[in-house]
Amino acid sequence: MKIGVLCIGDELLKGAVINTNLGYMGSKLLQEGIYPAMALEVPDRSEDMVNALKILMKETDFVLVSGGLGPTSDDLTKPAVAEFLGRKLYRNSEAVKAITDRWASMRRGSDLPLHFLSQADIPEGAVLIPNHYGTAPGIYLELGEKDPFPGKYIVMMPGPPSELDPMFDHQVMPLVKKALDSKLYSFLFHIAGVGESRVEERMQRIIASLPALSVAYCAAPEFVKLFITSECEKTIENASQMIRKEFEKELLSDKAKTVAEEIILLLKEKNCTLSLAESCTGGLISQLITNVPGASEVYEGGIVSYANKVKENLLKVKSSTLMEHGAVSSECAGEMLEGLKKAFGTSCGISVTGIAGPGGGTEEKPVGLVYIGVYCKENLHVGKYLFRGSRDQIRARSAAVGLNILRCMLKGYDVKHAGSIFLCPRS
Ligand code: ATP
Ligand code: MG
Repeated sequence: MKIGVLCIGDELLKGAVINTNLGYMGSKLLQEGIYPAMALEVPDRSEDMVNALKILMKETDFVLVSGGLGPTSDDLTKPAVAEFLGRKLYRNSEAVKAITDRWASMRRGSDLPLHFLSQADIPEGAVLIPNHYGTAPGIYLELGEKDPFPGKYIVMMPGPPSELDPMFDHQVMPLVKKALDSKLYSFLFHIAGVGESRVEERMQRIIASLPALSVAYCAAPEFVKLFITSECEKTIENASQMIRKEFEKELLSDKAKTVAEEIILLLKEKNCTLSLAESCTGGLISQLITNVPGASEVYEGGIVSYANKVKENLLKVKSSTLMEHGAVSSECAGEMLEGLKKAFGTSCGISVTGIAGPGGGTEEKPVGLVYIGVYCKENLHVGKYLFRGSRDQIRARSAAVGLNILRCMLKGYDVKHAGSIFLCPRS
C-alpha cells in the first residue's frame, strides 16, 4: 500500500511556515517501516487541491491531508474533497455538539460565532475523528464504488501541529495500519560511528540472504538509523540476529534512542560520573547529555573554555602549551582533560578543541581540524580528527564522535569503532 501526503496552506509555499506536519508524519510512518511514496504542497485554492488529489489518488492508496479544516474563508479542504468525490457536505450533529461543548468550556459567557459551525460540515459517508486539542474534527473516508477511486482512503487532519500530531499518533496511525494489505513487521536499529554508505555496503550480505527483507537508511550526525521491514516475522528475527552480529560494536542498545542516552545508561550501570571541557562545541555536548532525563545522576557539569584565558585559568592549560602548540592541538586537548579531572574529580571526561570555521583555518590547521580527548577511569584517548562540512556540521560531528568515543570506552571496545565516518585520519 502506498501512502500520499497533501499539505495545504499558502503559508507553506511562501516559506512563512515550515512544513513540519510532513516531517512529523513521515518520521512516525518510518517507525512502522513505511514512508510516503509522494507528498504535495498546494495553496489554499480549491482548484489546486482538486488537482493535487487527482494525482495523489492515482499514484497512492491512502492520502493524508493536513490543513484547511478551520472556520475561516481560506479553509477550503472539505469542500474541495467533497467536490473531488462528488459527495455533498452536511452538518454533522455529533461534531456540532463537540464544537459547542468545547466553546462553552473555553469561553464561557460569549456566544459561539455561527461561522464556527462550518467546522462540523463533513462529506456524506465520512467518519469523524474527534479533535481533543482543538475545534475542527478530523475526517476519515473509505472510498466506495460510487467514488472515483474505490478501495482507497482519505484522511483529513487540522493544520496546527499541536492538533495534528496527537491526532496522527493516536487516531490516524491505527487507521493506516488497519488499511495495510498485510501485517508488516519492523525494527529500528541505531548504528553509531559508521557512515551511511558503509552501513549499506555491510548490509548487502544480509539483504542477499533474506529476499523478503526491506531496508531503509536515514543518516544523522550521531548515527545511521537502519529500518528493516518484512511481511514475514521470521525474516525480521533472522535479520535482527545477523545485524546484531555484523554491527556488534556500533549498535546502540535497544533501550537508547541517542548516543547520549546510551552513555547515561552505561555511566549509571558502571557507577561512573561525567564532566566536560568544551571549546569549539560551545556546550553542545552538555546540551545533548542534559537532553536525557535523569542525566543529573551521572553528569556533574562542564566548562565552556572558549577563550585561551579560560583554558589557562579554569582548566590549568599551560601558557607554554598554548604558545608552542596552540589551542587547537593534542597537547591542549590533553591538558584540558587533566584540568577537568582535577576540577570535577569525575570518573569520565571529554575535551574538545578545534576550528569550526568558516574562518580561522590555515594550511597547517585547516577548518574542521578538531582534537578530542576522552578519559574513562584509567583509559585515555586523545585523537586528531578532520571533519568536513559547515560550522554547524563540524560542531555536531565533533560532539557525536566525542560521545561515541566515550561509549566505546565504557563498553570496553577499541575507540576505532567510534567514528570512521566523518574523519579523514591524519598522522
Ligand atoms: P485552524 O482551525 O487553526 O485554521 P486549519 O486546519 O484550518 O486550522 P490551517 O488554517 O491550514 O489549518 O493552518 C493553521 C495553522 O497551522 C497555520 O497557520 C500554520 O501555522 C499551521 N500549519 C498548517 N499546516 C502546517 C504544516 N504542514 N506544517 C506546520 N504547520 C502547519
Ligand atoms: Mg485555517
